[in-house]
Formats: sequence, C-alpha cells, structure tokens
Amino acid sequence: MPKIILVEGDITKQRVDAIVNAANSSLMGGGGVDGAIHRAGGRTILEECKQIRADRYPDGLPTGQAVATTAGDLHATWVIHTVGPTYAKSEDRSHLLASCHTESLRVADEQGARSVAFPAISTGVYRYPIEEAATIALSTVAESNTAVKEVRFVLHGADAYAVFERALRAQMR
Ligand code: ADP
Repeated sequence: MPKIILVEGDITKQRVDAIVNAANSSLMGGGGVDGAIHRAGGRTILEECKQIRADRYPDGLPTGQAVATTAGDLHATWVIHTVGPTYAKSEDRSHLLASCHTESLRVADEQGARSVAFPAISTGVYRYPIEEAATIALSTVAESNTAVKEVRFVLHGADAYAVFERALRAQMR
C-alpha cells in the first residue's frame, strides 16, 4: 500500500516520477489540468499522445483507462494520461473513477515509477462532486496492489484540499 500525501498546489510543479493527467479520450489536450500539463510540458507530450492514438487507440482512450508518455519539460519523468468519467446523477460511474486510479498505478508500475501525483480527477469540467470523488480516489489508492511508494494528491485550492483531508481522516478511522 502506498503512502498517501495531500498537498495544495499546482500538479505541474511536483517533483515526482509520474504525474497523472485528467485527460479526455482524444488525448489532444484540453482545459484544466490537461491544458496546464501540456503548456508546462511542451510539444513532445502532444506528439507522443498523437502517436498513441494512431498506434493503439484510433477511436480515443476509453474512460477509466490510462497510458504513459514522457513528461517533456516537466520535472517528472512520465505523464500518465487517464480519462475520468463525466458525472451523471442517473448512473453510478464510481467504478470508472476507481479504474482511473488502479489503471494509472498499473501503468506507473510498468514504467517503474515510485512516486506518483494525482489531481482530483473528474472534479472539474466533468462535474463529479468532489466529496464523492475524494472518497473513491483515496480508498482505491489505499487498496491498490502497487510498487508505487508515494501517492501525492495535488489539490487545486484550499477548498479542494480541505475536502480531501476530511475524506482521508474518515478513511483512517
Ligand atoms: P476533469 O475534466 O477530469 O474534470 P479538470 O482538469 O477540469 O478535469 O479538473 C480536475 C481538477 O483539477 C479540478 O478539481 C481542478 O480544480 C483541478 N486543477 C486544475 N488545474 C490544476 C493544476 N494545475 N494542478 C492541480 N489541479 C488542478
């Protein structure tokens, strides 16, 4: 079980082996974390994403799956791109959000990463309620069978940080 750490800040600034990107299935960049990672990491990340699309996922990366690229100009060695579910009141998609975390850690293991930073996947444009997302993310990582030693959740803003802190405390009880 990896050690879980919470920090408030910008995921692109983290000194970890791998940074997880809350991508969309096109892998062609977007807003939020995705845009920030591509801006800070430079063109090579997008070039590799294009190659992955052409070679392995012509129809896009399915929700809940993950793939790795190098990290361009970032401190990290790898960016792991995963596609979170969009939130839907009418349908429970928590297994897909959980899958983003297990698949990202599986890809991290394949690459040999020992420290991994996650954003709060699906809690931005994809509108997942952050309390629910935090509980799913934290419990899934805590139960993961992985060689990753440290998982750092990087929360954008004090409110998001506070939600994750509460969820982590509740989980440790
Ligand atoms: P999604 O499409 O999966 O919802 P978003 O990128 O829209 O992804 O948002 C996911 C979360 O990442 C949101 O909580 C947002 O506030 C946060 N976020 C945005 N930019 C950054 C950043 N540079 N570092 C860390 N978290 C970020």
